[in-house]
Amino acid sequence: VIASDTAAAAPLLRRHRYRLLTFDLDETLWPCMPVIEAAEAQLYHWLQRVAPRLTATHTTTTLRQQRQQLAQQQPDIAHDVTALRHRSLTQLLQQFGYPTTLADEAQQRFQRARNRVEPFADVIPVLHQLRHHHTLIALTNGNAEVAQTPLADYFDHAFTAAAVGAAKPAPNLFHAAITQAGVTAATTLHIGDDPALDCDAARQIGIDAVWVNRRGHEWPNTLPPPRHTITELHALAAWLS
Ligand SMILES: [Mg+2]
Repeated sequence: VIASDTAAAAPLLRRHRYRLLTFDLDETLWPCMPVIEAAEAQLYHWLQRVAPRLTATHTTTTLRQQRQQLAQQQPDIAHDVTALRHRSLTQLLQQFGYPTTLADEAQQRFQRARNRVEPFADVIPVLHQLRHHHTLIALTNGNAEVAQTPLADYFDHAFTAAAVGAAKPAPNLFHAAITQAGVTAATTLHIGDDPALDCDAARQIGIDAVWVNRRGHEWPNTLPPPRHTITELHALAAWLS
């Protein structure tokens, strides 16, 4: 009887040990592609007005290819998607004889649209619940600004790859969160949708991770299985409570 009591109590203790919860953003808390596509479409529409020679040659697809090429040529900014967009457009504006200051306005327009995210239905109720018991920090490789989204009130802090100098799977984002919250890896739980960039990257530095598998993907057999898998966040709240 004692043995089974102990066995039952152990996982419960483990669940309660997390003081800091770190969350990935894109595809974990909101669908990413619709937002990016809408932002790129809006930006392109604006470019058609202010830089028609550029859009006569380029589509949103070739603009993306330009950025990918630039990321390979300039790995120093590859982790900074905002800098990459800005530098790529600056080069193109120059090339087509337009003032490069247009890149600043383009960036602002893109960023406003990029922050117009629509969280999955489970996100706000669960964050509302979790914030009473945990420090919540957002960690993203992308350039959404949490403070400008509908989730502004739920996070204690947010870090981007651009701000910390390296994208996941590098440990920089995780370390930034741990330092900010004043906790250890052992009392931190990361929640994200990407097996490698979120779950395995966290595990590498001793942080437990929950895999958010909203779209029924297969876990890659090249990676050790995740600590925990959920399809929506209510299951996380239930597991932690
Ligand atoms: Mg993600």
